[in-house]
Amino acid sequence: MIRAKRKTGLVFFPAFDWAISPTHPEREERLLYTQDQVMEEGLLDVPGIREYRVRPAKYSDLQRVHFCVPDEPSMATESHLISAGGCLVAADAVMKKEVESAFALVRPPGHHAMKVVHGNRGFCNINIEAVMVEYIRDVYGVKKIAIVDTDCHHGDGTQDVYWHDPNVLFISMHQDGRTLYPGSGFAEENGGANARGTTINIPLPPRTGEKGFLYALEELVMPLLEKFEPELVINSAGQDNHFDDPITHMNFSAKGYAELNARLKPDLAVLEGGYSVEKALPYVNVGIIMAMAGMDTSTVKEPGYDKHYAPQAPDITDYITNLMGTLKDQFLINPPAPHPAKNGEIITTSKRIFYDTDMINENQDERLVRCRDCAGALAIDSHSSKGNKMMGVHIPKDACPMCQKMAEKWVNEALDNKKFHHIFLQDRTKCTYEVLR
Ligand SMILES: [Zn+2]
Ligand SMILES: [Zn+2]
Repeated sequence: MIRAKRKTGLVFFPAFDWAISPTHPEREERLLYTQDQVMEEGLLDVPGIREYRVRPAKYSDLQRVHFCVPDEPSMATESHLISAGGCLVAADAVMKKEVESAFALVRPPGHHAMKVVHGNRGFCNINIEAVMVEYIRDVYGVKKIAIVDTDCHHGDGTQDVYWHDPNVLFISMHQDGRTLYPGSGFAEENGGANARGTTINIPLPPRTGEKGFLYALEELVMPLLEKFEPELVINSAGQDNHFDDPITHMNFSAKGYAELNARLKPDLAVLEGGYSVEKALPYVNVGIIMAMAGMDTSTVKEPGYDKHYAPQAPDITDYITNLMGTLKDQFLINPPAPHPAKNGEIITTSKRIFYDTDMINENQDERLVRCRDCAGALAIDSHSSKGNKMMGVHIPKDACPMCQKMAEKWVNEALDNKKFHHIFLQDRTKCTYEVLR
């Protein structure tokens, strides 16, 4: 009898009442065929595979991560809360050791949602992985976590959330930003002043197949994980690298995804993108579930494989071999040097963010304390083209007294400034979120 070698939890939430629009790739039936395929393969009857029921996340779960402007109810629908809550259920199952690993097959996705949320970008409002990570930190006291994002698009939202956090290693493998939304994710983007080298970007050329992806995994990702020594590994399991995906240009098969997962062995996987709803997603998901459960994946095959799949071309293999040589040098052999600013110095940066789904422009001015003792207090002055002006002050979990003091000063300054419509204080040392205006 077939059984799971690794006890695996599944959380399923297709969100049948949420879509961006009826013909949009992120629509109701995205997980319908997957659900059928999982049933057809009888995976839920395999001893060792256990299905869990979803529960909605609370607004306070989102507040560990985001500054929602003007507030959480305007940014998160019930589906967003259940999608994030599905990840929390998966996390509980693993942390309580009921299973060895768990896969949250939920939507809407989350990895393009940044720390500040004024609307939807790249189909995402709420960063469901980050909500899960911060929950795990608060509830289970885990400190060091790695997120490996294997979606075809750069995980710019997760990068933004963890840009200043030296205790979360964020690695994104994606199609080169010069050729695909969101146009970021280059090797130079390697973390904020207090977290240099804990953001890693691996931009791969269009037409990269699983061969190139697995090579990058073995050459760079696995050694980086070994060096970082995370207590947990999370996979943002986007499936839009598939050769049949309509909105990207990569060359993965379902078996390739299964292999990737078998080698990475994440404790938790969260579904991100993947828009070949009928021809790829059901088979890729089945492959990932079987790999997580330690089952034989040699029979995993999508119907279009024999006709449409071609192995990775030699020029792409050469390109990736060269690229990995460069990136290994940049991240493993000569890792990024610490930021030169003095302890206690304030570092200011400005950025513009575009919300492609909701057509909103946002301007941010950020202040960070350069700190050798903690992740550094952070103040974000943000205004959007909708007219909302916000100040969000973040105190990191391990904040030192100097950073706590600076955060207090920033809050008082903001309260004296009439220009802000909203002032939020996210104090991760106390696990509190205060709406001060
Ligand atoms: Zn994607
Ligand atoms: Zn500090």
